[in-house]
Amino acid sequence: MIEMEEYLLEKYSRQIIMNEVGLEGQKKIFDTSICIIGCGGLGTTASQYLTMSGISKLTLIDNDQVNLSNLNRQTLFTENDIGKNKSIILADKLKRINKNSNITFSTEKVTKVNIGKYITENNIILDCTDNFESRLIINEFCHIGKKVLVSAAIQNFDIQIFVSASWKGKSFPCYKCIFPNLEENDNESCDDMGIISSVAGMGGLIQANMVLNLILGLKENFNELILFDCAKIELKKIIVKKNKECKVCCK
Ligand SMILES: [Zn+2]
Repeated sequence: MIEMEEYLLEKYSRQIIMNEVGLEGQKKIFDTSICIIGCGGLGTTASQYLTMSGISKLTLIDNDQVNLSNLNRQTLFTENDIGKNKSIILADKLKRINKNSNITFSTEKVTKVNIGKYITENNIILDCTDNFESRLIINEFCHIGKKVLVSAAIQNFDIQIFVSASWKGKSFPCYKCIFPNLEENDNESCDDMGIISSVAGMGGLIQANMVLNLILGLKENFNELILFDCAKIELKKIIVKKNKECKVCCK
């Protein structure tokens, strides 16, 4: 037991040494469970850094298989993984980063029928998907299940980040408040639009960073839409408001 404690203290010493983390913060990181929906460019990077930080309980969901055109941005996948299911391969790779991790995976696509069980079991939900159908389902069920949602979207050189807790305060919007006209059959994805490797990685990194900020109580920004233009290196924060007509969070 003492050996394990020493191992963990050494492994996470560069975080524990920080005033903002300390032993207490590191324990909070150990104890937080994360659900990552979508194991592509965003999900691979976010899960990798969260695992390295000490997050040990992860649920990975993706029904897709690794293909050659994923390899410009989906860290941890190699040509040997082509044709295999992303969530299974990612779980295996993450266990090599943290042997103490407790990772479960699903090869299902999230639907209104199955999403409840994944959301209920975890503290924070990451939307790393590339389609509006999944995004709207995740948003709705995070609101119903009272879970913090860390959502990211990437396209070309642009990253969009939104942390939502629409159930938590009367002024906090949900994803649908910001994009009221989105419908589940709007099918454009980043695969159709193009994405450069580093932008995908940065999107996942910002998501992981937002999660750690939340866990450590550093910043709660439930009414900010963050837009990062990686070509111009410009970051904008837009204050977003609850839409009183929202069919998800103002019913
Ligand atoms: Zn709403």
